[in-house]
Amino acid sequence: MDILNYHQIKESLPSRVQLVAISKTKPDEDIMVLYGEGQRVFGENRVQELTEKHDRLPKDIIWHMVGHLQRNKVKDIAPFVDTIQSGDSKRILKAINKEAEKNNRIIKVLLQIKIADEDSKYGWDFGTLLEYLEEGPLFDMRNIMIRGVMGMATFTDNEDQVAQEFKTLKEYYLILKEKYFGDNFKHISMGMSGDYPIAIEEGSTMIRLGSSLFGERH
Ligand SMILES: *Cc1c(COP(=O)(O)O)cnc(C)c1O
Repeated sequence: MDILNYHQIKESLPSRVQLVAISKTKPDEDIMVLYGEGQRVFGENRVQELTEKHDRLPKDIIWHMVGHLQRNKVKDIAPFVDTIQSGDSKRILKAINKEAEKNNRIIKVLLQIKIADEDSKYGWDFGTLLEYLEEGPLFDMRNIMIRGVMGMATFTDNEDQVAQEFKTLKEYYLILKEKYFGDNFKHISMGMSGDYPIAIEEGSTMIRLGSSLFGERH
């Protein structure tokens, strides 16, 4: 854990950009080091790890779920999760709404959209998402608040390609904001350790950093 590095990254960020510290696989002590430096927003990609860390760690941590989520697991995080960044299907949005309602909460959700040129990445195809929005059921879900979009660029050294993919996500964001969502739709979550400077250039408002803060994962 390199606290100096954390502060350098934080100071370099434009004020519009929120930093989500992705603590997956990392021990509580590492999280508490950043917590001690003032970091409150942390993200995990597995339900069990997220739930256990939530149980053990300070209750003012704002937890984001950033990994693909199975419907039957939503109930485990619905009591406390602040934001689910992996809103990538009709079925998961419906499940999140239902579990949020049971907990008398409103859970923030980002629509994860596929921008990478790789088959393995989860996320909406943008055309399919538009069809779904036209059908309308999302707008009857009272216990989720759609806060923006999330996307992951292709894992490549080709910076032009990465920049192009982030540009595409920003275009999608602007279309969705204008046509469907309005003022509460504020976030473009894009940028990880390997590509966040490009993402910020392209208009990111939320970056998700793991290894650049906590060191490599093993
Ligand atoms: C692991 C993960 C990150 C962070 O990755 P790093 O390359 O370590 O910064 C960001 N977003 C998602 C969805 C992840 O699963």
